[in-house]
Amino acid sequence: MTTSRRDFVAQLGAMAVLGSTLAPTSRAADRSDPHVGAAPPLPWYRRTLRWGQTNITEIDPGRYDIGWWREYWTRTAIQGVIVNAGGIVAYYPSRYPLQYRALGLGDRDLFGELTRAARDQGLTVVARMDSNRVHEPVFREHPDWIAIDADGKPYRSGDLYVTCINGPYYRSFLPGVMREIIERAHPDGFTDNSWSGLDRGSICYCENCRKGFRDAAGSDLPRRRDWDDAAFRKWIEWSYARRLELWDANNAVTRGAGGADCIWVGMNGGGIAGQARSFRDYRAICARTPIILLDHQTRSNAEGFQHNAFAGKLIHGMLGWDKLIPESMPMYQIGTPMFRLATKTPAEARAWMLAGFAGGIQPWWHHVSAYHEDRRMYRTAEPIMRWHRENERYLVDRTPVASVGVVWSQRSVDFYGRDEADELTEQPLRGWMQALVRARIPYVPVHIDQIDAAASAMSVLILPNLGALADAQVAAIRRFVERGGALIATGQTSLFDEWGDARPDFALGDLFGVSRAGSAAPVRATPERLRAAAAQTYLRLTPELRARVDGPHVADEPRPTDTRHPVLAGFDQTDILAYGGALEPLRVATGARVLATFIPAFPAFPPETAWMREPRTDLPGLVVNEQGGRRVAFVPADLDRRYAIDNLPDHGDLLANLVRWAARDSIPLRVDGPGLLDVELYRQGERLVLHIVNLTGVGSWRAPMEEIIPVGPVGVQLRVPPRATPHVVQWRVGNRTERVAPRGGWLPLVLPQVREHELAVIE
Ligand SMILES: [Zn+2]
Repeated sequence: MTTSRRDFVAQLGAMAVLGSTLAPTSRAADRSDPHVGAAPPLPWYRRTLRWGQTNITEIDPGRYDIGWWREYWTRTAIQGVIVNAGGIVAYYPSRYPLQYRALGLGDRDLFGELTRAARDQGLTVVARMDSNRVHEPVFREHPDWIAIDADGKPYRSGDLYVTCINGPYYRSFLPGVMREIIERAHPDGFTDNSWSGLDRGSICYCENCRKGFRDAAGSDLPRRRDWDDAAFRKWIEWSYARRLELWDANNAVTRGAGGADCIWVGMNGGGIAGQARSFRDYRAICARTPIILLDHQTRSNAEGFQHNAFAGKLIHGMLGWDKLIPESMPMYQIGTPMFRLATKTPAEARAWMLAGFAGGIQPWWHHVSAYHEDRRMYRTAEPIMRWHRENERYLVDRTPVASVGVVWSQRSVDFYGRDEADELTEQPLRGWMQALVRARIPYVPVHIDQIDAAASAMSVLILPNLGALADAQVAAIRRFVERGGALIATGQTSLFDEWGDARPDFALGDLFGVSRAGSAAPVRATPERLRAAAAQTYLRLTPELRARVDGPHVADEPRPTDTRHPVLAGFDQTDILAYGGALEPLRVATGARVLATFIPAFPAFPPETAWMREPRTDLPGLVVNEQGGRRVAFVPADLDRRYAIDNLPDHGDLLANLVRWAARDSIPLRVDGPGLLDVELYRQGERLVLHIVNLTGVGSWRAPMEEIIPVGPVGVQLRVPPRATPHVVQWRVGNRTERVAPRGGWLPLVLPQVREHELAVIE
């Protein structure tokens, strides 16, 4: 598959007609026309860029107007459809009586009819299963297919029964169903909505799990959830392994019956904690699939639209930037509140889609039900899907231009974050994402076990409270610094091992320039401890510049001998910053410099009592360690988490300052202008592709967004090679082309206005 395209591109090169800058265009053309050139066609999972899904409800067989939907497929320029086949509800007359048929289906083959209609229009067809639950008659006949709780009762979800991924339902019944679907309709591939079964909140004690775990681990299943218990830890790892094995087994079934390209691709999520909860090892999954079908349907108020670009970059980082990540994008009101049959505000739907494009995600409109009385939802996708078709060559097959990597670890989410991953691992990561987007600093997420591979492109790595690190991971971080990379770490980074057990001291303490004071073992932060610490605390910036209080005397003269570190730029008019967390004593190594110290909490009410009881301590909140030209910053203060929670601009500014200092002059672009903009930069051959997504609007912080407010002018400077030839810049939304001359190694661009987004193609 990969080979065919490589050969095709090589062939183009040999023809020497098009030149290197046009090669990516040709590759995109290669995707959209599977029969171009002499090369064999690309498989569906490499060429299908735009998708649609009408998630069929049980009563739809009586009202599915296939002719109308065919016309909608054409209007929205899709190239593939996802069609409900079997699982919880079957939409074809299965030979298996236990497959519950949709109401009123009778002997109609709705799945087959839709498949033929889609084929007739040249569309890819993926059969959708939902294997997680079954109706009561299945439980009565096959109780061993159902997951069992510690009391021996079946796990239920409403009226339905939850199936166990280790039982015969997954391992023999569903394979039979998939083979039947392939025989009848020959779909291109399969997906499954909730394939990974029970999440880690629930242990299954069915006979298959008991035996399987005993055989694999040599002990009985854990009796309860306890992260410090060896059996529970083994159960976590075993559960991950079972899902990877299921992924491979399903692929063996579908490829065996349907051919090499008839792959099975379970849906995956866009958040790391969610993947961890579901036992989906994201990196291992990306290693065994050529496409990710992404179930990440909306922003949360905590994450914002920018999380979609983040998710795209996170997954491409593992999957490769030449692969596709179509994402289910609802046209109805999803999230809180949930109204499956009401139109999502177009501004909200479109902002999510555009942020996804900026992260390398492909669009996939999603409707629940084949019939709607709120017909406004049919108008949202069309213009944006058509824009995507016109610009598709610039939206795939490209690599990010970024010198800042934000390191993440699913293992640390599990064994350090445990049941508090949102507070301990997600919030710090989210704080960095927000700070970098707000500062318009291009970044990519970097998987902890891919540091060596990513290192050559990165000048800075950020470790957002990566509590649990294995020795090998610590060694990879050290190698990065030894090769001249800069490091920023926060909170409890490197204080625990890969099981979340305390180390005697920070494993990276020598780089951070700190070591623990006192002999007590480190204690994992917990939400309770964090909440208890969340009070009116401050950081004192050092050196202080003004307003030193000595008894009743206030000296308000600047002290010119003191100079502040560049990390504190912009804070010249203050000696304190709001903080909101707690700090512990640390020993600071010779040569390391403390830029901020802790001011303990004092009352906020009544106002008369709001004065600092202890204005100065020596508890470090921010330490920079510049040794032998290397730049390392350690931030014991959890400012990244605080920024995610409190959204105080000072925290975002300080985090951005740290990155700019650590990155020296490696940040490839500068953006000036108002508003919240997600700016993403890519290289495509010799060409640069710049996305600017405007997230400034009415409701841009709290869903749903009802109106996007245009911003501008926006000035963008892009770093270009020193040779001073003018560049041709195409604005693919504003529809204009201009020639721009570089100045001093930077290409200055000006956008008078950005409405929803802009895409610049720079040759
Ligand atoms: Zn089980």
